[in-house]
Amino acid sequence: MKYLNSLSRFFVGSYKLSSTDPSNLEDKKVVVFKGYKVFFYFFFIFFAIAIIVFFLTAYGPLNGFLPETNNNKKREVIDLIVQIDSLEKKLLLNNQYINMIGGVLRGEVVDSFSYFEENDTSFNFNNLDLSISKEDSILRKSVFEEDRYNISVDYKKGRGVIQDFVFFNPVEGLVINSFNLNEKHLGVDIAAHSGASVKSCLDGVVVFADWSVSNGNTIIIQHAENIISLYMHNENITKGNNDFVRAGEVIGFVGNSGENSSGPHLHFELWQSGVPINPLEYINF
Ligand SMILES: [Zn+2]
Repeated sequence: MKYLNSLSRFFVGSYKLSSTDPSNLEDKKVVVFKGYKVFFYFFFIFFAIAIIVFFLTAYGPLNGFLPETNNNKKREVIDLIVQIDSLEKKLLLNNQYINMIGGVLRGEVVDSFSYFEENDTSFNFNNLDLSISKEDSILRKSVFEEDRYNISVDYKKGRGVIQDFVFFNPVEGLVINSFNLNEKHLGVDIAAHSGASVKSCLDGVVVFADWSVSNGNTIIIQHAENIISLYMHNENITKGNNDFVRAGEVIGFVGNSGENSSGPHLHFELWQSGVPINPLEYINF
């Protein structure tokens, strides 16, 4: 209590700072102040010094004298790692160089100095999304379906009557043998010069394209409405199984292949739903 009283007296009390001239013992007034002002001055000076010291250590030349912080250590470690990495690369290059020189000295043939190729690690391909997008999948599916059932959309929509079809003449030539059920000749023979183009009579898909002993190079095409066309004794066939063909598209060339052939001609058959049809009724050869 007594201590507090004296402190409060000091706070409010007035003080004079003076110097005494020793010659005449006269007081020379320097400054007069209240007690509390002393505290203010001390606080002001303390803060000023604190701020100056802070800036000097944080950004100024005293920085280096500070004990090392965590951040500084991390930075140093990273620097070291980078340094080691580049040293490794240099070492590898040097090794290659030494190996090459060694090869030269041993008299080996050295094509060229193959430089160490730095792996580009800037791309992380693991994160690439290579999966097919939904839109892409839909498009692919629709295109695939379109190709698959592309046997003339028009025919599919129309009624299944063979009269509605417009057939393409499979070959330019002369009919030498007609359709005859009694003789079991289920098509027509058209004589043409060897190598003349054989064309598909309708849009369709090749379901058979091969050679047989009796019929030679044969091609069978499935069309819409269960119509099938058949081409025998070809010299060559230019389509394979499952090929899609357009009406009038060349599928082979007239020949004399197969034991049943006695001269260059095309044996052409037309079927619908398992019934042979006389092609002459629908095609003008
Ligand atoms: Zn025939």
